[in-house]
Amino acid sequence: MRKTPYQVVIIGGGISGLATAYAVMEEVRKNQIEVQCTIVEQDTRWGGKILTHVTEGLLIEGGPDSFLTSKPWALELCRTLGLQDQLIPTNAQHNRTFSFCRGALRELPQGLLAFRPQRVDTLVSSGLLSWKGMVRMAAERFWPRPNPLSADESLAGFFRRRFGTEAFDYLIEPLVAGIYAGDADELSIEATFPRFRELEREHGSVIKGMRMAQAKAATTSRPPGGATTLFMSLRGGLSQLIQTLVQQLTERGVCLTAGVGCQEVQPPTQKSTSFQVILENGVRLSADAVVLATPTFQTARLLRSFQPEAANLLDGIPYASTATISMAYPTEAIGAQIRGFGFVVPRKEQRPLLAATWTSLKWPDRSRAGETLIRCYVGGRGRETVLEQDDQPLVECVRRELEAIVGITTAPKYAEIHRWIRGMPQYVLGHQERLAHVTQLLAAWPGVYVTGAGLHGIGIPDCIREGTKVGQQLIEDLSPTRVTHDSGRKVSSFQQ
Ligand SMILES: Cc1cc2nc3c(=O)[nH]c(=O)nc-3n(C[C@H](O)[C@H](O)[C@H](O)COP(=O)(O)OP(=O)(O)OC[C@H]3O[C@@H](n4cnc5c(N)ncnc54)[C@H](O)[C@@H]3O)c2cc1C
Repeated sequence: MRKTPYQVVIIGGGISGLATAYAVMEEVRKNQIEVQCTIVEQDTRWGGKILTHVTEGLLIEGGPDSFLTSKPWALELCRTLGLQDQLIPTNAQHNRTFSFCRGALRELPQGLLAFRPQRVDTLVSSGLLSWKGMVRMAAERFWPRPNPLSADESLAGFFRRRFGTEAFDYLIEPLVAGIYAGDADELSIEATFPRFRELEREHGSVIKGMRMAQAKAATTSRPPGGATTLFMSLRGGLSQLIQTLVQQLTERGVCLTAGVGCQEVQPPTQKSTSFQVILENGVRLSADAVVLATPTFQTARLLRSFQPEAANLLDGIPYASTATISMAYPTEAIGAQIRGFGFVVPRKEQRPLLAATWTSLKWPDRSRAGETLIRCYVGGRGRETVLEQDDQPLVECVRRELEAIVGITTAPKYAEIHRWIRGMPQYVLGHQERLAHVTQLLAAWPGVYVTGAGLHGIGIPDCIREGTKVGQQLIEDLSPTRVTHDSGRKVSSFQQ
């Protein structure tokens, strides 16, 4: 019988690392196992990309502003943590999103953001697509699928093939750019939206498959727990989730160390069966299990000394840089131009702006009465030169965009920039194969786990799901009652 608790060290205090720690502690509670869990975060702030800043009566989200509820893991975690009263839906009154194309803002069909268009009539009236483009899109139902299907395909290749170039350029590409800040010609459909290929494989058509799925969903009962919209947030911003996790993990005895990064991970030796986690301040932590919940280029650096091949593969995952620029205006300066959640800008338009969110209309209480908060999004794969500017020219740049697109000429009363250099992992062609290879290589190192947005899903719900699975697996692997040691399952490899 082991006398000392198992030592678990999690590196990275973003949502992936915190969700892993939470799952570890949940498992500890259920199982007869003693664990001392430590999380190491290099920044002085917890949350990684999740960053809420409250200032001058404004609630600014520097990174994500919401999570998707059709992937339930974030919503479930909020409820488990007791945050159900803090959940806020998007404002139904303004539930419209636009695409800037051919010189005008044109409304996108509702549900398209979740790739479930409900109101195709909007598409007809918006002028987003020509008649030819719409006919080609509608023909998707009858469009033959290649036989056999290729192992992987670019996202652009898939959607152009199924729906036509025009629908891809004006409807799908800007949404993909909004989610991945990516170039759809590089992104892998298998790694980003495998469901669409599945629908094609099973039903011969994405539209037919989606209709059947919708009909089935309509007959199944909705999960309990209050009104939900497709995207949800928290009253105090998404950092409220982080603060609550940090507080509850602390109460459960997790050691949270912020402000010092991990320098190196050393594998077990003949003398010691533990990993050594060496921090930048020279502190050494012994660990029976190490979770790397860091961006993959950091994970690569930490693995390199003992698994260089996996490190090279992880280092090969590209990242795109973006920035959000939040600006507060006197509402009278905006006029009636703002009438929805915001707009996206297709790459084809060749503009610096990726998207703009009309934050005050999307969420309640994000600005003072008489003020309107707008958040602009720039950068992304192949569009990153815009980020080379200093802050003031960058604000001027997005101001010119807002003037050209929605006619706002007034200077904002307040502007705040958050830059995310190498912030968005890109799941390019071959991503799944790359991960399978990493899994295989790390199987030789029981006790090492990797998770995080760079692997199996960039959204907050995906990060929570993956972190949770890693935490559960880790405790199962450490558990003394476990007979076999299935090291092949060490790396999170759970599909959407
Ligand atoms: C601008 C923007 C908008 C987004 N919008 C949305 C959205 O609306 N909805 C949504 O679901 N998702 C959105 N995302 C994606 C989502 O926010 C991220 O994918 C997710 O938060 C990543 O979480 P993570 O924990 O995997 O990584 P991170 O948040 O990057 O956390 C990793 C942590 O590891 C730390 N770290 C790195 N190296 C070390 C080291 N050596 N030692 C110790 N610590 C280290 C970092 O400091 C960081 O805190 C957005 C992302 C961005 C950038």
